[in-house]
Amino acid sequence: MHEFSIVQSLMNTIEEHAARQDAQTVTRVVLRVGPLAGVVPHLLKTAFDTFKDRTVAEIAELVIEMSPLELNCRDCLQTSATDTVRFKCPECGSLNVEACEGDALMLERLEMEVPDGPA
Ligand SMILES: [Zn+2]
Repeated sequence: MHEFSIVQSLMNTIEEHAARQDAQTVTRVVLRVGPLAGVVPHLLKTAFDTFKDRTVAEIAELVIEMSPLELNCRDCLQTSATDTVRFKCPECGSLNVEACEGDALMLERLEMEVPDGPA
């Protein structure tokens, strides 16, 4: 499943970040997902819950923030955000548009518990 490979590489990224910060526990993982990324949020959560066992993110909650789709219009040069996947410029009605970063899937934020320095 697509989502499993995404989460697998996400886990590597999370573990790297946690190691760099000396964090022992990741409590929250915020992902930003573009509407064209082709992922199903609940499958992503299922995959996350499967992979997080015995990792630093074992108790972490996965939060998925969907980005609006942004369209660049080649006719009126406006950039518009739209929440529907419809390739039409809301400003001038042109179909001569391109989506920008609609397929983004990125780690937006990690919340971790970092122990206070050496006792
Ligand atoms: Zn336009």
